[in-house]
Amino acid sequence: MRETFTIALNNRFADLINVSGTMTALGGSVCAEDVRVATSAMMARFVNMHELQAEASRVIAELTGAEAGCLTASASAAMTLSIAGAMTGLDPAAVENLPQRPGEKCEVAVQMGHLCGYGAPVSQAVELAGATVRIVGQSTLCADHQLEGVLSDRTAAALFVASHHVVHYGQIPLKRFAEICHAKQVPVIVDAASEYDLRWFLDQGADIVIYSGHKFLGGPTSGVIAGRRDLVRATYFQNIGIGRGMKIGKESIAGTIAALEAWAVRDHDEIRKTETAALTLWQSALAGVDGVTARIMPDPTNNPLDRLQVEIDPLKTGWSAAQAAAELGAQSPKIIVRNHKVEQDSFQLDPCNILPGQAEKVATALTNVMTRKTLPTAVSDARNGGVNSYLAWLA
Ligand SMILES: *Cc1c(COP(=O)(O)O)cnc(C)c1O
Repeated sequence: MRETFTIALNNRFADLINVSGTMTALGGSVCAEDVRVATSAMMARFVNMHELQAEASRVIAELTGAEAGCLTASASAAMTLSIAGAMTGLDPAAVENLPQRPGEKCEVAVQMGHLCGYGAPVSQAVELAGATVRIVGQSTLCADHQLEGVLSDRTAAALFVASHHVVHYGQIPLKRFAEICHAKQVPVIVDAASEYDLRWFLDQGADIVIYSGHKFLGGPTSGVIAGRRDLVRATYFQNIGIGRGMKIGKESIAGTIAALEAWAVRDHDEIRKTETAALTLWQSALAGVDGVTARIMPDPTNNPLDRLQVEIDPLKTGWSAAQAAAELGAQSPKIIVRNHKVEQDSFQLDPCNILPGQAEKVATALTNVMTRKTLPTAVSDARNGGVNSYLAWLA
């Protein structure tokens, strides 16, 4: 008899340890028990969705200090919909006209250094709403006058991206960015999909801030929107238009509300201690390995999270960071490291998603793999990995 999916899940899909971070390609995050219970309880009943979203708004407002909030399918959807909302307000005909006929007020200002990819282009999330990206400044330098020069009566919103993916110098800081935009009555939308702080961005002047429910918050796949009531209402209104295809289900709303509540009472210090213990364990597993340097590094966007940066000198080890990352990924269980810097001969170990007992398994695998004299050849393809993984699917 064919095994049921529940059995298959335990048998065939369990063999993976995520030390790469909150990667949507690995399913985002692992959720707390309350989140699981809320999600599955909601599956077996009906609910008025407006009432449920109003409850989400109440919880989001309480945690972020915002006037209101709502939930959608993902942070990516939240960007598209909040931009659409800034264009249409509460005009239903304007909502139905998107994305083809966005009207006069259809430009979105974004610093060039913020036009990154998070698995898909930021610019595309803007354009999906029917808006036009107005690039501000150059990739590594953006001055105040360049933002001022782009803002006009045609500007619907300005988008600010907070992420390790963006250029980290030469950009206008959020507070100044918001001052300039507000002087011209332009609302500021912040993509903080992968950031921990639920208040800072609004405190700095954001009118809307967006988080991924499935990253640090540990909820089901969802996008959390918090901010000015009028903008949140206009964002939610997109459900009668382009938001329909970005619909969030009752179970994900329930799970995300539970995740927000769990976040508020989470013992962050205790979690940090567990994470630090894992980092130290891995660091000592690599101590003394010739050609390998392991350093604990802070998160580049100041989230309260450190990672272990593992630097390889291929002349001494005889193999590259890409080879080591590939070999760790081929262990049983598979150890999936943070590999976006393998071209610079390093990879990172992110402790924020490990489950009890996994830190030791990672340490053992590190010792096994990294002390070898030779490793199988691996194609270093961190740059094209995302695309190639999709192309390989069912091929
Ligand atoms: C992950 C991420 C996104 C996309 O988030 P989803 O909720 O998966 O759509 C957008 N922007 C940044 C900066 C991200 O890190």
